[in-house]
Amino acid sequence: MKKILFIFFITVFAMKAHAQNFANDLYHAYGNYLERSILTRRFPPEDYIKLMEQFVQSGLLSKEKLGSSVSGRELNLYRWGKGETRIFLWSQMHGDESTASLALLDIFHFLADTHSFKQEKHLMHDAVSLYILPLVNPDGAEAFTRRNSIAIDLNRDALRLTTPEARILMETYLRLKPHYAFNLHDQQPRYSAGNSHKVAAISFLAPAPDQEKTITPNRLQAMKVISGMTEVLNKIIPGHTAKYDDTFEPRAFGDNFQKLGGATILIESGGWPGDPEKQFIRKLNFLIMLDAFYRISRGGVELYSTELYDSLPFNDTRLFDVIFRNCTYLADGQRFTVDVAINRNESVQPDGKLAGYSEVEEIGDLSVFYGSEEYDLTGYEIMTGSVPERQYSLSELTPEVVADLHRKGFHTVRTKAGKIGGNFSKFEVNLLLNSEREHPDRLLLNRNASFVVSKDSKPIYLVINGYLLYPLTGAGFVRNGTIIK
Ligand SMILES: [Zn+2]
Repeated sequence: MKKILFIFFITVFAMKAHAQNFANDLYHAYGNYLERSILTRRFPPEDYIKLMEQFVQSGLLSKEKLGSSVSGRELNLYRWGKGETRIFLWSQMHGDESTASLALLDIFHFLADTHSFKQEKHLMHDAVSLYILPLVNPDGAEAFTRRNSIAIDLNRDALRLTTPEARILMETYLRLKPHYAFNLHDQQPRYSAGNSHKVAAISFLAPAPDQEKTITPNRLQAMKVISGMTEVLNKIIPGHTAKYDDTFEPRAFGDNFQKLGGATILIESGGWPGDPEKQFIRKLNFLIMLDAFYRISRGGVELYSTELYDSLPFNDTRLFDVIFRNCTYLADGQRFTVDVAINRNESVQPDGKLAGYSEVEEIGDLSVFYGSEEYDLTGYEIMTGSVPERQYSLSELTPEVVADLHRKGFHTVRTKAGKIGGNFSKFEVNLLLNSEREHPDRLLLNRNASFVVSKDSKPIYLVINGYLLYPLTGAGFVRNGTIIK
């Protein structure tokens, strides 16, 4: 009995070690499989479909047309593998949550490559069948919005099924009756992993099948799969993995699929400092999904307890994008000691490109919060600064003129309204359109984050639309200015 137990433990150890090696090797080989034609979160869904078509043409994947979205864009189901264990994956039911969609392309490149990881691919091909429904919400992907083209959140339509996209997703699940169901999303990029300064790069959940959060056999299985993926991430990004809110949502797909019996796994792609296009998170998606398929193929899921799943902290909101600490704030002729927190948001411009707008989120004692970026401004004064009296025409704002304005301590200039649309300035300076309008003399919450950082009343740094610049040398980076109307 003891000997059998011993052999069992040795086997468990060997199998776990083998899985770890696979993840480690994948991590280093990832560059070979990256789909390089899309490196941004926003892309036309047609481009994606074309890339998928290449995998179909090459014989890697088979394709089944499932139907169309409200605006007539196609939804397809792709299949790889001939195994009995059915794994269903769907992505981007929220149109602006594309990280996993891109990771899936990388996964198909990996599976298509005939020279590497032959043994592992062979094993997976025989053991599992992957069914993939990418871009569940292609109209939302086109507009880069969460909701579909009639502003319905598909993930609140799993009961009523009034939208064609939700109907297709539900019908496909019911027809496949998958053993495993991967629900692929992006969460807001500044959740912290519990009460920590670490951003939640990936958050998992084995969604609850009911209000009581019952741990059914399939939910337990999902927790084990997540424990395996957590083990992989703990080696690469320790402390940056969290658990998503587990409140039961009766109208959501993950909760319903868990209730219907498939081991349902939610993967939420979060943020990573300095990675606005989430290319590192994309790589992590590639890694954990392939690793999970491999584990499932080897029967390795059973080796895991739920310990690592249980150890995951919940998403928390302890994190701002930037915190400037210990500033002496000059306002109303008085001096205050404050920390200032800024979040860098973005939205779609009229030309379809993404631009940044940063807002002051908090002022005061922020000692219980963390910044993804932090600056200690002890000994520095901050003030909103002034705006030159004269009006600049846009053609005057050459890089040299803008750099000179920066050196003089200006982050905003007056300009004639002209034909400027939208809310963004392509210049590294904000544009004040209404010459009547006074520049605010104090920081306002939820307003543009631009101010001057001085020492002994001499401007040293500028914060322009949330980005720190050192005008003397030009060091630093401004994503874009804003238009103040
Ligand atoms: Zn989502």
